[in-house]
Amino acid sequence: MKIILIPDRLDEKPEIEENIFGEGFKIITANAKKVTDIDINVWQNAEAILAWHDLVYDQSLISKLTKCKVIVRVGVGFDNVDLDAAKKAEIIVSNVPDYGTEDVANHAISLMLGLNRQLNNYHDSVFKSKKWDWNLGIGSRRLNNLTLGVIGCGRIGTALIQRAKAFGMKIIFYDPYISRGFEKSLQVLRAMELKDLTEISDIISFHVPLNPETRLMADDSFFSSLKKGCTIINTARGEVIDLDCLYEAMKTNRVSKIGLDVLEEEPINLNHPIFKSVINSEEWIRGRVIITPHCAFYCNESYIEMRDKAAHEAKRVLNGDPPLNRVN
Ligand code: NAD
Repeated sequence: MKIILIPDRLDEKPEIEENIFGEGFKIITANAKKVTDIDINVWQNAEAILAWHDLVYDQSLISKLTKCKVIVRVGVGFDNVDLDAAKKAEIIVSNVPDYGTEDVANHAISLMLGLNRQLNNYHDSVFKSKKWDWNLGIGSRRLNNLTLGVIGCGRIGTALIQRAKAFGMKIIFYDPYISRGFEKSLQVLRAMELKDLTEISDIISFHVPLNPETRLMADDSFFSSLKKGCTIINTARGEVIDLDCLYEAMKTNRVSKIGLDVLEEEPINLNHPIFKSVINSEEWIRGRVIITPHCAFYCNESYIEMRDKAAHEAKRVLNGDPPLNRVN
């Protein structure tokens, strides 16, 4: 019996995975919050791991995976797996890059529209302040007068651009790794330097992977280069943005609004000054923040597709077939 371990997150019967693996495989779900929640024997005997994003697969954990042939990240980002350590241990690492592209793009556009149309502010005014008033004093801007800056023009960034075009926005992207001329295919502007985007964008949305180059790329100098009153959307990874610098930028109105699905610390650290100000309903931050709990990927269809594709990838490797989405 080959053991497939789903260490974290999944707290329901793994029917999708069981149907795909079939006989000869035993699926173990642990819903662990830390590595030590799972017995060392289980780690050692697992032949494939379907990894969500609560645990970190560093050198120390990888050294325990003596039978493991493949770790599949049930998702796109694989920043929680030490790719080199896995390679040295002859473990293939794969991800599922294509299960929720449209959902994350839809979420980013929802955050943008929600902030632009003041949805959270109006909703709160109806129920908390018991007001029925269109004039909340914070001006909404017409989207076709605004410029959207997209940082990272891969699958999700491109899907966002397609959606934003329908609103008549001016669009510019920054992605030094995309082939020359891609801007022509999309019929949008391209920034060769990040500052060429930050200086003109009214709304900026992040769609980069987390890596040493993108970690904290939104730092003090990034925020100082923004057009005053810029809106920041992040559905990529929390560590891309320095939250302390973001707070300062909000205080000085360099940044007007933020829509964040991902945070440096997850679950949210409610002691951070930004979130404390929201909890205390401080006047200066009213209507300027929408936070969602790393759910951009999620809808009924994407959840099934993600698990289905991850299980098929692991099964392919255990059957001796080449993986579709190896990342190490
Ligand atoms: P992708 O690999 O298709 O696109 C990423 C793009 O970023 C690439 O085109 C790459 O060239 C570009 N890039 C890399 N470094 C850059 C840099 N320094 N500056 C500018 N561009 C840079 O990935 P994707 O499918 O579009 O996903 C993007 C990210 O979204 C993932 O890595 C993941 O972390 C995140 N994500 C979040 C959720 C969620 O639920 N919030 C769900 C899925 C993906």
